[in-house]
Amino acid sequence: MSSRYDLIIRNGILVTPEGVKKADVAVCDEKIVEIAEEISSAAKETVDAAGKYVFPGTTDGHVHFNDPGRTEWETITTGSSALAAGGGVAFFDMPLNCSPCTLDAVNFNNKLAVAQKDSLVDYGFWGGLTSTNLDKLEELAECGVIGFKAFSCGSGIDEFERMDDYTALMGMQKLAKLGLPLMVHCENAEITRDLTALALSNNKTTVRDYFAARPPITEIENVSRMIMFAEETGCKLIIAHISTAKAVELVTQARSRGVDVSCETIGHYLILTDDDVERMGTVAKCSPPIRNSENQLKMWGKLFNGEIAFISSDHSPCDPKLKDGEFLRVWGGISACQTTLTGLLTHAYHDRKLPLDSIAKLTSQNVNEIFKIQGKGKIAIGYDGDFALVDLDKEFTLQAEDLFYKHKVSPYVGDRFRGTVSQTILRGTTIFKDGKIVSKPIGKHLRPSL
Ligand SMILES: [Zn+2]
Repeated sequence: MSSRYDLIIRNGILVTPEGVKKADVAVCDEKIVEIAEEISSAAKETVDAAGKYVFPGTTDGHVHFNDPGRTEWETITTGSSALAAGGGVAFFDMPLNCSPCTLDAVNFNNKLAVAQKDSLVDYGFWGGLTSTNLDKLEELAECGVIGFKAFSCGSGIDEFERMDDYTALMGMQKLAKLGLPLMVHCENAEITRDLTALALSNNKTTVRDYFAARPPITEIENVSRMIMFAEETGCKLIIAHISTAKAVELVTQARSRGVDVSCETIGHYLILTDDDVERMGTVAKCSPPIRNSENQLKMWGKLFNGEIAFISSDHSPCDPKLKDGEFLRVWGGISACQTTLTGLLTHAYHDRKLPLDSIAKLTSQNVNEIFKIQGKGKIAIGYDGDFALVDLDKEFTLQAEDLFYKHKVSPYVGDRFRGTVSQTILRGTTIFKDGKIVSKPIGKHLRPSL
């Protein structure tokens, strides 16, 4: 008998947009072709998912894999492997901290060549918007960027200049015409710069001094201003890694009056507090900084209300030597792309009862819809055969050696998680299983359908 399908996952509990249901799912030519209580056809490969929850596989909308050019921090090989180990099937890589940054077609194509060779999972790329490349937005759009990223404050990388107000206005006018979104790192440039300089001149460099140099108002003020530019220009705006409930509120209010604005948050703003950062040290330094528990509680409320569009990792690793020193002076950025899904299963589902289908939307469907990636992000007929098989109650303590990152550091090492990814499948091919990468790189380039 000839096999009809390439793959059937049997007996699993599927996490679909309509909720969770026990069903079989079949894949042929990389796409989901049948979902039924019991599929009678044969297949070349069968996966028994009895007792497992089958998620659509996550798309991480915000990572820094630093490849090419800063591969001593991370690479597309190690980063995409870590993603796969965490149930990921795709990522959108930021225009920095690779080097040169993705500010024109030449450097887009350099990165594309590396990903085509090395990426285990599918990938899309952000272009950068800075004061030096306003004339390159069209060529980057033609390359297929999923959107543009800009910094209101200093980016930490000299060649990636901050977006001044002129660039914001001109850039958003252009992007509105191109139909591509702008994601902005929102912190007020002057206040963060001057408070940091003042702290340094007084030798105040502790973790609390760092928080004091980047207070919530720096984000809130800047989100408000970016919304005004978006409202004026019609540019689709996404607030990057939003960290304060007050800023989320501004986004929600603007959206309700018709502004095309949404926000992304990051697992660590939901899972960690300022007290945790004080205990953990520089491994948990990021910007905007992680806020207090009162704000965190409100952020959970915003998430439950549907006010946050998607959750990414902002995986931002560096050479660990750059984390060695006084808190205010060391490099900021947290390594996290392997633990987003398991972190949400532990803290959102088990601890707070956020439904599983909401977690799937926040980590997969919403990301692909916002960036117009067709045929990806949910378990539905015609969509890519992407799956993360999860043992929902299996607990584990994260060990450094479990991490696939180039540098085995994470603020979550030693933490207890409940919800273990046992297998990740990309377009019908198993890429990760039982703690091991089991495929060669098969990722492909994702571009928006405009
Ligand atoms: Zn980032």
